[in-house]
Amino acid sequence: MTWCNRIAKCEWCPENINAGEPLVTVFFWNKGSPEHKGFNVKKYYHPDCWVAQGLDYLKRNPYSPYIRKVKMELTPEQAEHRYVLLRRKAAIDQRIRKLADVPNRIMVEARLKEHITEIMLEIAPIGGIPKKWLE
Ligand SMILES: [Zn+2]
Repeated sequence: MTWCNRIAKCEWCPENINAGEPLVTVFFWNKGSPEHKGFNVKKYYHPDCWVAQGLDYLKRNPYSPYIRKVKMELTPEQAEHRYVLLRRKAAIDQRIRKLADVPNRIMVEARLKEHITEIMLEIAPIGGIPKKWLE
């Protein structure tokens, strides 16, 4: 993880990564073909987005017994719904962290935290509220 030097496009969310923000750079090796040499593809993520895309990958490749257990209790629709809520919460967390220099910060933060409460109520019946959210 490094500091972003200039605006980069996040691979995961629609927001740009601005200069001075933490940035995760991932290299993907494109093997190419006998005619074309392989090349590195660089992709940029917000740290949270990098985690989110990692979780997305795990969701699509459920090898962990823990994830499988959670998945077994949920229908595919519920699992999808849960995942959407997890991402929504992560996006709100990120917005809250960026609020530091917004003039009406307290108002905005209160509104965002209200959203989080709604998400908690929504996620509770479909796999429970993640422990991390309650810390
Ligand atoms: Zn992002």
